[in-house]
Amino acid sequence: MELLDKFGRKITYLRLAVTDRCNLRCQYCMPAQGIDIVDRKELLSYKEMYRITRVLSELGVNKVRLTGGEPFVRKDFVNFLESLSFNDKLEEINITTNGALISNHINKLEELNIHSINLSIDSLQKEKFAKITRRDVFDGVFNTFDLLEKSNLKLKLNVVVQSGFNTDEIIDFIELSKEKEIEVRFIEEMPFNGSGKRNVEEVWNFNKILDYIKNHYPTIEELNSKKSSTSYNYKIPNYKGSFGVIPSYTRLICKDCNRIRITATGLFKNCLFDGGVFNVRDFIRKGANDDDLKELFISTVHHKPENGFIAEANRATNVSESMSTIGG
Ligand code: SAM
Ligand code: SF4
Repeated sequence: MELLDKFGRKITYLRLAVTDRCNLRCQYCMPAQGIDIVDRKELLSYKEMYRITRVLSELGVNKVRLTGGEPFVRKDFVNFLESLSFNDKLEEINITTNGALISNHINKLEELNIHSINLSIDSLQKEKFAKITRRDVFDGVFNTFDLLEKSNLKLKLNVVVQSGFNTDEIIDFIELSKEKEIEVRFIEEMPFNGSGKRNVEEVWNFNKILDYIKNHYPTIEELNSKKSSTSYNYKIPNYKGSFGVIPSYTRLICKDCNRIRITATGLFKNCLFDGGVFNVRDFIRKGANDDDLKELFISTVHHKPENGFIAEANRATNVSESMSTIGG
């Protein structure tokens, strides 16, 4: 039994949001006053998340990304990671984090063989960082960056390219990869911010970001990426690290998508851009057994939309919910 959609795409990757809460208020992700967080009992419990992941792993999911909200805001998150690490069907456990709360956990993450950490950093300048995140956590996040870089964990930096805010730092970010073995990934900004489309000076999409970089360097090498990679990847010759551009909004990567998402409240999403297909938390709480769950996952994945544009067109409401509720 496996998860196969009608376009022949095999689903092997789960993105699981462990919470909708966050200690930051990034301006591209949520409004200054935050979003309405749900009651604790509406969140999936760790036990439920463990079970969902186990059942999905029996259907071929071998990679899980834990995200949120900020995953480390949820109490006992590291214990949850430990229990997931006992599932030997999972080849990779990855985490996306803002890094403000994790410096004390890095040894444990190494011990648990966490495969990679995506650290979100949108500016290398303290004041600008505070403006973007609306919190004063620059020093803590950069301490985490330093510790992660020295650790055995694979490190990727996530940079949301924001017109009028950090486009002047694109080259500074790439220069970090000169001496550091990191992957810097530039992400197109999407209207998942709790209010919808934002007024921007210029649209910085995949092509514009890449052209800007190509204009700066005489040569860039294109790297071979995994078929299901979310980014197109490159390297400046002789630099230790690499960089990538993620066409999250122009959606150039749907053809080989291998991902599904489950939000912190248990909403199953076949695509980042769909409005959610069914609530797996409610299904479990009504007494579904593992076979019921498997049947539901298999039939739902079969109807995965061909691409993010079709998923968006079929939504009842416009794209505007905060990324912190979806799980980025
Ligand atoms: N709090 C963690 C963090 O910031 O890394 C994990 C959750 S966050 C929602 C996951 C990723 O989504 C982050 O890299 C963040 O920068 C990105 N993100 C959030 N809102 C976005 C938006 N509107 N457009 C593009 N990326 C976004
Ligand atoms: Fe929080 Fe991550 Fe959203 Fe920033 S991007 S507000 S850190 S969930």
